[in-house]
Parts: sequence; structure tokens; C-alpha cells
Amino acid sequence: MHVELITSLLAQLEAGSITWEQALTQVTALSTAWTTAEWKQQREALIGDTCAVCSSAEGPFVLQHLVHCDTYKEICQQVKAEFRTRLWPHVALRVTDEEVAAHLGLGEKRQACPTCGSLTIRERKTMYPPYICQKCEKYRHPTPWFETPVQVRYYQKQKTTDRAEALATAREYLTSVAMLAELRLHDDAIQHEATLRSLRQSIAYRSLKHTATYCKRCAFKEDLPVINRKRWDWE
Ligand SMILES: [Zn+2]
Ligand SMILES: [Zn+2]
Repeated sequence: MHVELITSLLAQLEAGSITWEQALTQVTALSTAWTTAEWKQQREALIGDTCAVCSSAEGPFVLQHLVHCDTYKEICQQVKAEFRTRLWPHVALRVTDEEVAAHLGLGEKRQACPTCGSLTIRERKTMYPPYICQKCEKYRHPTPWFETPVQVRYYQKQKTTDRAEALATAREYLTSVAMLAELRLHDDAIQHEATLRSLRQSIAYRSLKHTATYCKRCAFKEDLPVINRKRWDWE
């Protein structure tokens, strides 16, 4: 079922004699193979008379694939995630402390509770001391009120008054922005690797070597998580 053709495309791609685009274009044109009569015949010839899971001899039986094919998009995402993990430490090193500090800025001046640092304070018009901290009040601090708030800096995007925490968040953000640009530079390598994997999966799947006879009940149970993948037609 085109296994030889895909094997040859894989060999050419590994050898660098074709590009991943060329390989992908050719293999995508074949992707409806499992609707053909030949595919159906080959599958039917492999169906045995005992279920491999529950040993039932009561049919009807189906041919269960023990390997599956991810979509090309899914494989690309996996490869991209691997590249991201591998490149992260290098990209992170390129983000300087100066850039992080410049991105963070000085924060906004805010008034906070002198006891717990919370910004949820409110001024009372008629009582003394004039301020009360809602957080201290909520957690039943013995003296949630105070005379003068403290000045703090609030980092709005990072949602914190803790500068160290805000810097860490800003650094993480700048690194992921730099990572997007870095991944774009590796796009060709990512798609090349994804195409290799896609072809290998396709060969394994189409070869029908990794299959077993299942009764319909066992096949249904096994397929539950992917039941919505209409691509696999077990009938
Ligand atoms: Zn069974
Ligand atoms: Zn407080």
C-alpha cells in the first residue's frame, strides 16, 4: 500500500536528494489509501478468528492497528516543542538584565498596608486610625488599621509589587518572545524532521505489520480516547 514508494521518499529525504516539501507533497497525495479496495482486502486477509485481548472466538472481528499516525501538524508541534526545550537555555542567555529592567520599567506608585503589603486598603472618613487593610481584616489580624500607608511599586503586567518576582516574569516573557523568532529561523529544520517522522509513521501504519485481531468490543474500548478521529474506520 504505497509502502515502497514512501520508503523510497524517506531514503531520498534522509540522503538530502529531495526536500521535505517535495516528500510531503508526494505523500499527501496518497493519504486516502485506506479508502481503497486493496487496503480493505489486505486488512481482511490479516483478520484472525480469536480476539488478541479477551481471547473470545466470537466475531465479528476487526483489524486493530497497534501503531497510529499523528497528523503532520501534530508532529510539527511535537518537534517544535523539542526544539524549544533544547534551545531555551541558549535563548535565555541572550536576554540581558538591562533589557529585562527596561521592559519592566519602574512600576506605578501605589499605597499599601504597612503590615502585609497588600494594595487593598481603604481610607475611613470618620474613624481613627484612618486606614484599614481588607486583607488583614479578612485574615483577622489583631490590628488591621493603621495611620499611614507605605509607598510601593506595582508592576501591572506582572500583577505584583514584588520586584524580584516581576523581573523573573518579565525575563520569562522576553525569552519566549525571543524564542518565537529563534524557532522561525529553525522552521526548515523543524519541518524536515517532522516530515521524516511522518513518513516513518506512515510506513509503519501502512505496512499493516503492527496489527492484531480484536473483537469489536475490545476494539471499541481501546479506541475510546480517539473515537472522534474519523480518519480510522474500523468497520
Ligand atoms: Zn475481545
Ligand atoms: Zn494588611
